[in-house]
Amino acid sequence: MELACLDLEGVLVPEIWIEFAQRTGIDALRATTRDIPDYDVLMKQRLAILDQHNLKIDDIQDVIAGLSPLPGAIEFINWLRERFQVIILSDTFYEFSEPLMRQLGWPTLFCHRLITDDAGRVVDYKLRQKDPKRASVKALHSLNYRVIAAGDSYNDTTMLSEADVGILFHAPQNVIDEFPQFTAVQEFDELKREFLKASNRELIL
Ligand SMILES: [Mg+2]
Repeated sequence: MELACLDLEGVLVPEIWIEFAQRTGIDALRATTRDIPDYDVLMKQRLAILDQHNLKIDDIQDVIAGLSPLPGAIEFINWLRERFQVIILSDTFYEFSEPLMRQLGWPTLFCHRLITDDAGRVVDYKLRQKDPKRASVKALHSLNYRVIAAGDSYNDTTMLSEADVGILFHAPQNVIDEFPQFTAVQEFDELKREFLKASNRELIL
């Protein structure tokens, strides 16, 4: 039995925090783990900024609802779901990704959660577990699934290593150079071919 595991941001949808910063004009929200390597410090800062701007979860979702999946992503995931059981493994939050998941037809998503109070203020966040992408692939292996995975960045590389076949998609050159063991492709048509190649079944494009 085979499963396809996909990263979300950078693969099917844009980087949500970056797009959110652009739409709201709040430049301070552009900071990423490249600027603040400690994820907890970064997230606490993001939540404080949301609070300063009095952005409640509904406002945040309204902004994100204006975003679209990347061109070709909807067609790609529909294609993939006809051939594989698909699970999206992401470091995003359910509450953040919801408007985009709706546009993708609600595929299965394993990610994290934001914690809101009764007034809709985002007060905290809850990571599901440590190294969740790798842990998910391990768990799927324990269910006797063969896993083919694709992602675009550093936070995907443990998932790609753990998978039976790992594919880099839309990855920046530094990631491609650092992880030459993974085939790297840039277009959805190429990604389809890589999934077909990786499969141990006779599938057609
Ligand atoms: Mg990504």
